[in-house]
Amino acid sequence: MEQIKTIHEPAREIPVRASVDILVVGGGPSGLMAAQAAAAEGLKVMLIESRSYLGGNLTIGLPILGFLGQKGNQIIKGLPQRFIDRLKERGAASDHRPCALHVSLTIIDSEEAKTLAMQLMEEAGVEVLMYVFCTDVVKEGDEVKGVVIESKAGREAILAKTVIDCTGDGDVAFRAGVECRKGDAEGGMQPPTLMFCMRGVETQKLRDAIVNNPETYDMDIMPHESFRQRNFITVGLRNQIRKAQAAGIDIPVARTILITGMNEDEIWVNMSRVNGTDPTRPESYTFGEMEGRKQIYRIAEYLKGFVPGFENAWMEKVAPFMGIRESRVTVGKYVLTAQDILACRRFDDAIAVASYPVDLHHPKGGDCTLEYCGDCYDIPYRTLVPEKVENLLVAGRCSSMNHEAMASTRVMSTCMALGEAAGRAARIALLDGVKPSEVDVEKVREELRATGAYLR
Ligand SMILES: Cc1cc2nc3c(=O)[nH]c(=O)nc-3n(C[C@H](O)[C@H](O)[C@H](O)COP(=O)(O)OP(=O)(O)OC[C@H]3O[C@@H](n4cnc5c(N)ncnc54)[C@H](O)[C@@H]3O)c2cc1C
Repeated sequence: MEQIKTIHEPAREIPVRASVDILVVGGGPSGLMAAQAAAAEGLKVMLIESRSYLGGNLTIGLPILGFLGQKGNQIIKGLPQRFIDRLKERGAASDHRPCALHVSLTIIDSEEAKTLAMQLMEEAGVEVLMYVFCTDVVKEGDEVKGVVIESKAGREAILAKTVIDCTGDGDVAFRAGVECRKGDAEGGMQPPTLMFCMRGVETQKLRDAIVNNPETYDMDIMPHESFRQRNFITVGLRNQIRKAQAAGIDIPVARTILITGMNEDEIWVNMSRVNGTDPTRPESYTFGEMEGRKQIYRIAEYLKGFVPGFENAWMEKVAPFMGIRESRVTVGKYVLTAQDILACRRFDDAIAVASYPVDLHHPKGGDCTLEYCGDCYDIPYRTLVPEKVENLLVAGRCSSMNHEAMASTRVMSTCMALGEAAGRAARIALLDGVKPSEVDVEKVREELRATGAYLR
């Protein structure tokens, strides 16, 4: 029998659920900041999210990297810092701790991040709609006029004067016809990871082992002394992995990446890897989730058998989804490159400053390389503005960066700063009666500075 490849879907009328001024799609680090920054001066702002909670990758057990620059100064301030301040009030975030390898790390509690995210949207007067997946755009000519969503309520439209794509995967931009790219020259993308949490870890024993036995418990770049402190990320213990592999445990990575949590006995493990996973293809993402889940049990076995302090630990929880390091990025009016980053480049239309190294987890497996610029670099507004399509801004992991550059800009502090800038720019453009692509960027920069963001 001949296989049917396509079917014809007849055109149909769909209900318009809402008409808003600014619509933010995706409630991750960039989306939360974008919605907060946009919601002022009486504008109607809506945030839609496909999951049952807000926070995106803030909720999978990761530390926030990149609040500090390579010279130790704080380079991400403004709304992202206020998010940390509010978490701190609930005992749910650490200070920004300098780190030789990651520049800086800020530990947060995932569940409290979800709760705070909702609270902040309520305080800002942002209308939140969860459990809806943005599947298409409403477009007239080259202008985006809203999006199409799917949910248990069926297919509906949300009309908006400006849409901010904070989906991480550039879903809105892609549907709007913005050119999108994926990965390196061969399309290879950084692999994803299913994070998990071990409790009952004797972290002091782990610290002591690393500090006192540097030959046995090897670390990449980080001085062993630095592990005396409360919060840390290990990247190393290559010897231990080799021993476990020799003992027959199949470990997908060469380095042990462990992150302290808010509780003393809590460690988050960033070690599963499923190369070749493409989150924009559900069959591929499904394979990634299933394979990642097999890997985490082997990794837990390795930790319990070969890493000091884990002897009596147990797997407490697994992150709600496999975290995606890289998928689509959009092509905007400017594409940021690793050359810009490594030259600490300045831009007249800078809307954020970043410093995290170009941190590439290689698409075909093996190891990871980091390249540092020695200070910090600017991110121009034009990276948020897609080419040719109007009324749309793109913030976060899917802004206009090439494969190498996004390996730096992808950290959450930077994504938050990009979201804040996009939200402010969208509002200023609307109030000035111009398209976001024509906004007075100097005005956006002035507002960013006046409200506490850091620009050079
Ligand atoms: C394993 C791993 C380790 C990492 N380590 C670190 C680290 O240690 N520190 C650090 O700072 N960064 C780290 N990163 C990078 C960082 O987490 C991400 O790059 C960052 O979270 C991207 O933010 P975002 O707002 O662009 O997207 P996301 O955090 O992915 O948020 C996107 C949101 O949009 C929603 N969404 C997506 N599509 C749709 C749609 N079509 N309709 C409706 N909603 C939608 C999603 O559900 C999600 O809530 C890591 C990433 C991974 C995967």
